[in-house]
Amino acid sequence: MKANRIFNFNAGPAAMPLPVLEEMQASLLNYAGCGMSVMEISHRSKWFDDIINDAVARIKRLLGLGDDFTVLFLQGGASMQFCMIPMNFLPGDATADYVNTGTWSTKAIKEAEIQGKPIRVAASSEDRNFAYIPKNIEFNAGAAYVHLTSNNTIKGTQWAEFPDTAGVPIISDMSSDILSRPLDVNRFGMIYAGAQKNIGPSGVCMVIARNDLLDRIPAGLPTMLNYQTFAAKNSMFNTPPCIGVYAIQLVTKWLEETIGGLDQMDAVNRRQAGLLYDTIDGSDFYTGTADKDSRSLMNVTFRLPSEELEQTFIATALENGLGGLKGHRSVGGCRASIYNATTDEAMATLCDFMKTFERDNG
Ligand SMILES: *Cc1c(COP(=O)(O)O)cnc(C)c1O
Repeated sequence: MKANRIFNFNAGPAAMPLPVLEEMQASLLNYAGCGMSVMEISHRSKWFDDIINDAVARIKRLLGLGDDFTVLFLQGGASMQFCMIPMNFLPGDATADYVNTGTWSTKAIKEAEIQGKPIRVAASSEDRNFAYIPKNIEFNAGAAYVHLTSNNTIKGTQWAEFPDTAGVPIISDMSSDILSRPLDVNRFGMIYAGAQKNIGPSGVCMVIARNDLLDRIPAGLPTMLNYQTFAAKNSMFNTPPCIGVYAIQLVTKWLEETIGGLDQMDAVNRRQAGLLYDTIDGSDFYTGTADKDSRSLMNVTFRLPSEELEQTFIATALENGLGGLKGHRSVGGCRASIYNATTDEAMATLCDFMKTFERDNG
């Protein structure tokens, strides 16, 4: 453990790669020898231009995005996209299919309904407290888009593969698994992610939109709620979330140059999640809450035999340098969020701790 840092399993804001934090620390006083903090330079400067353009170029390379996609950095978080998506992509009486797989999907649906948009919930896993990803969904081939949440941060489920949507572009909230695995980007009309889980700090939301969708945005939207406003200005219609964009640049550089790309990141994530699920499945003490075929590689949710033991587990873990293991307040239990920045050392320490705790309390 460096600089008295704990092993951080927070759901979001969440652990960042240590080399990224170290580079940010140096840049906080003097960025690239310019004599100013990276927080003190103009967003209209060449320095910031280089930062944002490099971040965009790296995201495009990592995901294999062509010129038919635009990468944006917005404020308002992933939650702002819940209302902007129907506003921008459902003109007139156009309709969309939504899949409800948990808290965040439910919020996205609500924001479309508030606007009176004629959307349809094509499938839901609410009947079993969102413990699974629905299968064999019949989508409306005439829908403008299919909205789904690729990874359900709170419920601990994830789409292992994206469903057949009858050719309709998918719009996906990837806040908690963006850049954790390779994607067939051509299936998607838009991808969005609040940065604070997998790629940076809070305050910046990455949006990747297909240009033909951007071209069809109806006139008359408020300027700040229209994706075209930001697409036309390289995300700099107004002051962008500069420090967040800088962090994303460094995280994507780390993904490319240290990890080696998304195939390699995926392998690391699978290996680490595998160790944790094996620890859970190999005991009668811990119980995973998500169906096995729907398990998330990013948020591992589990219960202990009693709520009292769960509280002791969380407190004892923290005493041992393992933080953030409390489940979301809406579901209780325990959750280990093991995003891209999780190290093998952190995972080994967690699994060892869990075995010891079971031995002492089981
Ligand atoms: C955290 C989270 C959100 C909320 O993001 P904000 O940036 O806080 O609005 C939305 N969707 C998912 C899947 C999340 O994990």
